Amino acid sequence: YKVKENGKNHFKLYQASMDMVPQLALENSLRKALDRSEFVLYYQPQLSLETGQIIGVEALIRWISPSRGFVPPSEFISIAEETGLILPLGDWVLREACKQSVTWENQGIPRLRVAVNISSIQFQQTNFVKIVANIIAQTGANPDNIELEITESIAMGSMENTIFKLSQLKEMGFHIAMDDFGTGYSSLQYMNKFPIDRLKIDRSFISLLNTNEKNDAIVKLIVMMAKGLNFKVIAEGVETIQQRTFLEQIDCDEIQGYLISKPLKLEDCNEFLNAATVS
Ligand code: C2E
Ligand code: CA
Ligand code: CA
Ligand code: CA
Repeated sequence: YKVKENGKNHFKLYQASMDMVPQLALENSLRKALDRSEFVLYYQPQLSLETGQIIGVEALIRWISPSRGFVPPSEFISIAEETGLILPLGDWVLREACKQSVTWENQGIPRLRVAVNISSIQFQQTNFVKIVANIIAQTGANPDNIELEITESIAMGSMENTIFKLSQLKEMGFHIAMDDFGTGYSSLQYMNKFPIDRLKIDRSFISLLNTNEKNDAIVKLIVMMAKGLNFKVIAEGVETIQQRTFLEQIDCDEIQGYLISKPLKLEDCNEFLNAATVS
């Protein structure tokens, strides 16, 4: 019996280590990619349904690897999180987004908010607020032009501590958005405690709009709740005019998605912003 168990364990171990090989290779090339500056930020515009103006952009990381080609974040963010590489990577993203925000401000683009995804691994660092403050000092960015996108998973540590950090960031002038709203668990408990400015309704709800009455009811309810709690609400992953119309009818504040624009590289984003302000 013991032998059999050992054999089984051994087999499992062997399988796990075989699976590790590509992951380890990926981890190593991720490490090098940081030194070699193989990352770029793309920017996806966000539209106010009330004014029809572009009010912000979300910065989304892209890895352009000489050996692997274009690697989507879904293929490397979780490994970066597991290995801790998300810390230097996340710093780079925030610094880059802050620099770009300063450039846009200098170019006279009026009040464009730049939203930056913050991994809960980053947020849970004890000195996270200090790190962010340093990046602001280094880049001269205005926190009022920066939105930090967090997810419910940041609350996995101490609730008091999470609220304290968020309050400090708010006091510094940052905007805070709750990303992927509706996909976490027991989210409603936190909603009146977190000092946030904006809810982002997850794409999974938006893609079902007009196809499922119960889903539509949930989206309506999220928008109503956001109003009641004094948050702005933005829908992500809006792809069709029918989805936009639904969201307009229920008084959703803002939308983001392929209907408005895909995430764009900087030059294309600048072109988009120019065209949007001219028309
Ligand atoms: P997310 O924060 O939920 O970002 C939205 C994702 O939806 C992006 O995928 C975006 O390209 C995609 N998207 C936007 N509009 C549409 C649409 O209309 N239809 C569809 N089908 N997709 C749409 P992306 O850029 O591949 O990023 C995936 C995830 O990777 C992000 O999800 C975010 O969680 C993470 N991520 C991206 N950049 C960063 C970063 O700089 N730092 C961290 N920590 N995570 C990042
Ligand atoms: Ca996001
Ligand atoms: Ca999402
Ligand atoms: Ca996300």
